[in-house]
Amino acid sequence: MSARIILVGPPGVGKGTQAALLESRLGAKGLSSGVIFRTEIEAETDLGQLAKSYIDRGELVPNGVTIQMMLKRLRTEEVRRRGFVLDGFPRTVRQAEALTDELKVEEIHLDGVVSLEVADDVVVGRLAGRIGCTKCGEIYHSVNKRPKREGFCDVCNSVLVVREDDKPETIRQRLTVFRDTTRPVIDYYESLGCLLKVPADGDSEGVYRMIVEGLGID
Ligand code: ADP
Ligand code: ZN
Repeated sequence: MSARIILVGPPGVGKGTQAALLESRLGAKGLSSGVIFRTEIEAETDLGQLAKSYIDRGELVPNGVTIQMMLKRLRTEEVRRRGFVLDGFPRTVRQAEALTDELKVEEIHLDGVVSLEVADDVVVGRLAGRIGCTKCGEIYHSVNKRPKREGFCDVCNSVLVVREDDKPETIRQRLTVFRDTTRPVIDYYESLGCLLKVPADGDSEGVYRMIVEGLGID
């Protein structure tokens, strides 16, 4: 089967973890706007340079370029065939409306929009200790999930770093952006009647089961 799912929720809620599980188990293509932006930055493209100036401050990249970048990927043959798990997009009501239009034109049906929900202090704690692999993207945590060898990835042995936007001031800014700009996206999907709310403070397997059962795709 090919699933078509949108994950929304504050930074640090575990969207990336759930997207990876959904991708590997359902075969849907994971499309993370944050990962795509970081790849563009790494490759030093024009889009990457533009995005970096916003991302490092914890602000959103402008809607126009973000929408274009994501719709381009949704239109690929691979995504048509495999379906998708969107993680980090849409993050503004403008982006959500652009996506709704695209899906309507292409006659693509969503399985649902999943809102992952936790208390604020939980996400701050998770983000504040987060370290990631510079090569394969594996995520560790200085308290909850330490690598076997300090500073190096268990999977590929590359160097682990704290993301520029995981510094404390930037974390606060990202949470503010979420409250002001992304919460309305959740209300938007609730009003369309396709929202599934999932408490995301448990272990990732439990959260995964609630998602697939809630969407009726297990
Ligand atoms: P997190 O969900 O942990 O905040 P992401 O990797 O999803 O991290 O996003 C990192 C940054 O990339 C965001 O803070 C923002 O600057 C930018 N970004 C990601 N997705 C979008 C989007 N849909 N619209 C605008 N900016 C985005
Ligand atoms: Zn790695």
